[in-house]
Amino acid sequence: MIYFDNSATTKIDPRVVEAMLPFLYEEYGNPSSKYYSLATHAKDAVEEARGNVAKLFNCDLDEVVFTSGSTESNNMILKGILETYGGVNPSLAVSKAEHSSVLEVAAYLEQRGATVNYMEVDANGAVQGDTFTAALEQQPTLISMLWGNNETGALNDVGSLAKKCVERGIFFHTDATQVVGKLDTRMLDRSIRFLSLSAHKFHGPKGIGAAIIRKDDLGIKTKISPLLHGGGQESNYRSGTLSVHNIVGFGKAAEIVLLEQEQTQQTLMELEAYLREQLMVVLPKVVKFNGDTREKIPGIVNVQFRGANNEMLIKKLSDQFALSTGSACSSSKPSHVLQSMGLSVNEVRQSVRISLSKSNTKAEIDQLCQILSSK
Ligand code: PMP
Repeated sequence: MIYFDNSATTKIDPRVVEAMLPFLYEEYGNPSSKYYSLATHAKDAVEEARGNVAKLFNCDLDEVVFTSGSTESNNMILKGILETYGGVNPSLAVSKAEHSSVLEVAAYLEQRGATVNYMEVDANGAVQGDTFTAALEQQPTLISMLWGNNETGALNDVGSLAKKCVERGIFFHTDATQVVGKLDTRMLDRSIRFLSLSAHKFHGPKGIGAAIIRKDDLGIKTKISPLLHGGGQESNYRSGTLSVHNIVGFGKAAEIVLLEQEQTQQTLMELEAYLREQLMVVLPKVVKFNGDTREKIPGIVNVQFRGANNEMLIKKLSDQFALSTGSACSSSKPSHVLQSMGLSVNEVRQSVRISLSKSNTKAEIDQLCQILSSK
């Protein structure tokens, strides 16, 4: 099996598994317990992991809130901000190309009375400056926008867009799930006040991630109403006994990202260029790429095979290759992302996502191209 579905999830790194194992066996203490060594070891391990996650974003340790992953972080942030700061007229702007864990929350909030502006995206899946300016003028409580799109890799210039939000007193959240590990995510200031990520997208374990909730410029904690109430863990943002082994794995995966980021980015760029080139060599009349090749996450390629049906194609290849038609979280529906970029339903139905990891090889790409050219 050749795995080309790394935007859905990635293979766990053996160094991550090794770091986790002691916390599944002998180090089983609850980090919220006190005094005895099993508890303090667990707490120390959690704090060390928190430090590594904080380094990914250049943020403080108490700005990292462990959650079960980006779905939970997105829910917590969108619902929490609107409930805390929305007042009598809560309002929100999101792009039409967001992941379902943002779009479905927006729809839920809309049903409960919030005003939601669904921002149009361009042919690459990114929000254009004038669309963003129009959204700012409506002065919403929050703007939430993907850093990089999970289906096409399209990037939004979140750093500068977030600054515009700050100037107007609007909160900015970005879903950074797909960019971590592939691009430098260190943030220079606090304009991106909220951010979501999941460890399993960069060779960490599943079911663990974080919400980055930054303090204000005076260093005062940003309050939002929690999604889960209970024992007050994670500074009251997210109650529940911490999943220590998962957090340790998350921390290790973050540490590896920091050590290997440049190399990973380089490898992904080379593999992507090779894949695009070879597809054009073997199927010049059939292949059409969706979106731009420039401002994007390296390693995500969304491609139309003219005349093919994407479901049938990936099913036919599934003995040998793991491919997808788009997000695993909305895999039963034709991609809303590609539709928002202006593709027809027919074009969407012939589109396949090939998402690479640093451990894929050119030989694997050759095998895929060979099979595709024979179909
Ligand atoms: N946002 C984006 C952009 C994603 O790609 C995903 C995972 N497909 C999520 C959010 C949700 O992540 P998780 O399933 O780990 O909660």
